[in-house]
Amino acid sequence: MKGGTGALTAALADAAKHAGAHIQMNADVSQITMRNNCAAGVVLADGKTISADKVVSAIDMRTTYLGLVDAGPLDGTVLKHIRNITYSGTMARVHYALDDLPVFKGLDGHSSQALRGHIQLAPTMTYLQKAFDPVKYGQFSEHPYLDIRIPTLNDPSMALGGKHVLSATVKYIPFHLREGNWETLHDALGQLVSRTISEWAPDFEQCVQHCHVITPLAMQNDYYLPEGSLTHGDITLDQSLWMRPIPGYTQYQSPLKGLYHCSAATHPGAGITGINGLNAARRILRGKK
Ligand SMILES: Cc1cc2nc3c(=O)[nH]c(=O)nc-3n(C[C@H](O)[C@H](O)[C@H](O)COP(=O)(O)OP(=O)(O)OC[C@H]3O[C@@H](n4cnc5c(N)ncnc54)[C@H](O)[C@@H]3O)c2cc1C
Repeated sequence: MKGGTGALTAALADAAKHAGAHIQMNADVSQITMRNNCAAGVVLADGKTISADKVVSAIDMRTTYLGLVDAGPLDGTVLKHIRNITYSGTMARVHYALDDLPVFKGLDGHSSQALRGHIQLAPTMTYLQKAFDPVKYGQFSEHPYLDIRIPTLNDPSMALGGKHVLSATVKYIPFHLREGNWETLHDALGQLVSRTISEWAPDFEQCVQHCHVITPLAMQNDYYLPEGSLTHGDITLDQSLWMRPIPGYTQYQSPLKGLYHCSAATHPGAGITGINGLNAARRILRGKK
């Protein structure tokens, strides 16, 4: 997509503004206010209060109910379900600014045509299995599975002067480490990914101008994804379909009147589909009739 996914968000924001929405950026919500057990608005981190008879949470359940709402009126079973949601972040992301395209083994020269799609560095099923196994024990493999994209091949405007951006999703990398912590392992993770790419593209490190590592901890701290879970709660059988986000509260409604959900925590889960938001909007509008 020209301009990357940011262009999609910008287009959606423009459409919403055109339809009369007011969007406030850089405004952390620190509390969802309640009146008579109904959502009554939000308080921002700067203390500003916004009143509303409907509040839609676009974030995960744990943060919403255990961080932003007074959980007092909640039923004990509901609270137990919320506390039991599992969040097992198992991936990291490494972004590279490249002076030039690396030459991948087996491809004819730079072969930019072949590099336009997904580049999956996982040669066999056994490799994939071994890349996954250590995460169960809070460790990560020396040979991770990499899912790489070079978006500048499809949209050169994303880097100036014919340079490139390479983005590698790194699996499987645990949020909870058995030994060490992500502050000290941050650089080692970047080096591991560079080494792994170099196995397939030997000149890779010569092409790298800058490397930005997003550890599972950074996913939580910088992107508000609890325990690095990009899906706002694991997509497991017990947290899917009529049990997502929690049993009894599917259909984008919440245990509290006037509060709704529309994030990846809801059915059908994560992905840039917009379906969660669309379904939530339909649900809210249906309730208005
Ligand atoms: C590294 C990575 C790669 C991915 N790759 C893909 C992919 O290739 N394809 C795909 O389809 N999906 C991908 N996903 C998943 C996809 O990005 C998510 O499923 C999707 O963004 C979820 O949308 P959302 O609106 O529910 O939540 P989010 O995108 O997480 O949006 C929630 C927003 O709420 C904000 N927020 C949090 N707390 C507060 C607060 N207290 N006050 C105010 N604002 C707050 C956050 O800053 C964030 O902007 C990826 C995710 C990650 C992390």
